[in-house]
Amino acid sequence: MIQGSDPSTAAQMEVVARWVAEARSVVVLTGAGVSTDSGIPDFRGPNGIWTKDPAAQRLSSIDAYVSDPELRRRAWKLRLEHPAWKARPNPAHLALADLEHRVRLDLLVTQNIDGLHHAAGNSPDRIIEIHGTLREYMCLSCGSRGPMEQALDRVRAGEDDPSCLRCGGILKSATVSFGQSLDPVDLARAAEAAATSDLFLAVGTSLTVFPAAGLPEIAASNGARVVVVNAEPTPLDGQAASVFRGSVSTILPALLSLL
Ligand code: NAD
Repeated sequence: MIQGSDPSTAAQMEVVARWVAEARSVVVLTGAGVSTDSGIPDFRGPNGIWTKDPAAQRLSSIDAYVSDPELRRRAWKLRLEHPAWKARPNPAHLALADLEHRVRLDLLVTQNIDGLHHAAGNSPDRIIEIHGTLREYMCLSCGSRGPMEQALDRVRAGEDDPSCLRCGGILKSATVSFGQSLDPVDLARAAEAAATSDLFLAVGTSLTVFPAAGLPEIAASNGARVVVVNAEPTPLDGQAASVFRGSVSTILPALLSLL
């Protein structure tokens, strides 16, 4: 394993850039750390939402959401004020778009719900939002979906917990809460891409939320080189071919500049 953030980092960059250039199939997994420099806090980093307020985890539980109308009202208020509405892609997002368009990127699996990889210009058909998207609402009863802006307009107009206009069911953002299943088609496609990749980048993620965190393990056990870029240690660092510890919005553009 090569460790970053010392004078050997430049040499490490050269090595990893060569791996990327030579790779037959590149898969990237991103997490909340990719969007912190766009003003969207992560959950578990030093300034993370859950680090500062552990009770906020309840907002991400589907059982609590369904059973507690007060929590739903709070969730809608937070959605109205979510930093994603004003956020713009940062240099890490732009570097990953550059990776796709100028070098190669077969699949970008993101745990983020903020839509910033789309905004940065990665092709929608190469992005899997494995935990869903904040940019749509969905009904927990009939499954109907629509643009989040329509639901937020109803909240602004005075409905503090808008219900489904089709069936009266509970509405929620089209994100995957704890207790909800991931889309099996997306998960199978992500696992297949990880298994057949020869270079896997895990970027800005604590690698603690499964099954997404299992993707780099699948890649490594099938012989891919796994490269971790994260501000803090991750459980996968020992299996990684290279670990950069630092800011994704500095490291990714520096890596791309060598390609
Ligand atoms: P996480 O909060 O568990 O971990 C984020 C990691 O990124 C931490 O280890 C932190 O040290 C690191 N980090 C933060 N800023 C960084 C930076 N600028 N450079 C390098 N590293 C940085 O996030 P996760 O692993 O993605 O998973 C948690 C869940 O959080 C996911 O399910 C995701 O859906 C959700 N989430 C998404 C968003 C978003 O859409 N932007 C924001 C918060 C949480």
